[in-house]
Amino acid sequence: MTDAAFQKCINPDCGAEYDCGQALFKCPACGELLDAQYNWDKIKVPSKLSQFAKRWASRDNRLDFSGVWRFRELLNFCQDKYKVTIGEGQTICEQNDAVAEYVDMRPGCLYLQYEGLNPSGSFKDNGMAAAFSHAMMIGAESCACASTGNTSAAVALYAHSCGLKCTVFIGSGRIAFGKLSQGMDYGAQTIQILGDFDDCMRQVQDVCTKLGLYLLNSVNPFRLEGQKTIMYRIIERLGWEVPDWIIVPGGNLGNSSAFGKAFFELKELGLIARIPRMAIINSTGADTLTDLVNNKKLLWNKGHVEQAIIDDYYADLTARDFSPHTCASAIEISRPVNLIKCLRAIDICDGVVRAVTDEEICDAKAIIGKYGLGCEPASAATVAGLKHLRTEGLIARDERVACVLTGHPLKDPNLTVNYHKEKQGQFSNPPVEAANDLDEIIKLMK
Ligand SMILES: *Cc1c(COP(=O)(O)O)cnc(C)c1O
Ligand SMILES: [Zn+2]
Repeated sequence: MTDAAFQKCINPDCGAEYDCGQALFKCPACGELLDAQYNWDKIKVPSKLSQFAKRWASRDNRLDFSGVWRFRELLNFCQDKYKVTIGEGQTICEQNDAVAEYVDMRPGCLYLQYEGLNPSGSFKDNGMAAAFSHAMMIGAESCACASTGNTSAAVALYAHSCGLKCTVFIGSGRIAFGKLSQGMDYGAQTIQILGDFDDCMRQVQDVCTKLGLYLLNSVNPFRLEGQKTIMYRIIERLGWEVPDWIIVPGGNLGNSSAFGKAFFELKELGLIARIPRMAIINSTGADTLTDLVNNKKLLWNKGHVEQAIIDDYYADLTARDFSPHTCASAIEISRPVNLIKCLRAIDICDGVVRAVTDEEICDAKAIIGKYGLGCEPASAATVAGLKHLRTEGLIARDERVACVLTGHPLKDPNLTVNYHKEKQGQFSNPPVEAANDLDEIIKLMK
């Protein structure tokens, strides 16, 4: 442990504090989510963000090589000896003018933060590097998570790297094949529950409490500390300037929560002059956040969130036996565990929330594949959402926008093959069948 960090309940009426030597995952006093917080005066934070760039020159140091621990002063909750890294966060933030044209933005204005380059192929690795470091610090021996797929892949990979026993819980039939294959390949025990992700999430929390397992879902505050670094790397790419907008898909709302916290802290520390706006994009088939914020007017309200609105909403989902459905399986979640923290992030970043259809997601994904580095469906919700926000005029043509492409295209090959082969969308690029004959083959080539 460092004496500079502690855990704190996000409920202002409680505000209980705990040291970092325990795995809690919710406030024992009131049940609300916990944050990692810092006594900044005890940490030697560089006076300018650009000083972090020096670490590119010492990449034989394993912590400097990590795209998470390169920024270690900003997530200073454990000593170096506990820090886990397998080379996460080596990402590219690509300026992409062809995708910019698709959403009617000026050349030079759109950036795609490609998190598919992480060791397990999604942004989750940023969080796992931090969470597993905490697990090592407190001497955990076994761990578990509920997952729509990418969490299980990342957890399985980090667990065997640290020598932790690992069980992953997935819903039945909802997981993309690439992700399912990873969990098994990396040696995790996989338990498929007859239910959806929200069912898995409820079960795993009870299992972890009962059996004393270390929980790696995004209710883990240390995991979110690792995910803050995605924002640091975007700012780094922009010459340490903040963009005008960050766009992120919304599932369990860990990323959006972490990003809001990252910007709040940077501003407090005087390391940035202003906070960018954030757009969180749901799928219309799993749009709890959109509905609660845009229709039910749910607000952070300085931490005094109207819980009755949420309770009524969830009671109605239960009464209707509602299960979310979207092709973007990573965001197929109707009871996001970080909802309250996300409301805080929306408040910090003057955020907006939108929902896009599966059709819009698949078309945007095809464009990102054709002109960019590709991504999985949930990631493409960002570009589909940006298209909405451009049409509305909320985002101007010449603002600087960074979309977080959360996962690798090979995570969900079935969806991509079906889209193209079955001509499901306007950008389908189906294969052509040819007779085994040279002239016939040449005739078919464009
Ligand atoms: C986990 C995940 C999401 C959802 O992120 P949250 O932090 O849960 O909102 C989006 N895209 C991909 C690829 C994911 O793996
Ligand atoms: Zn509390």
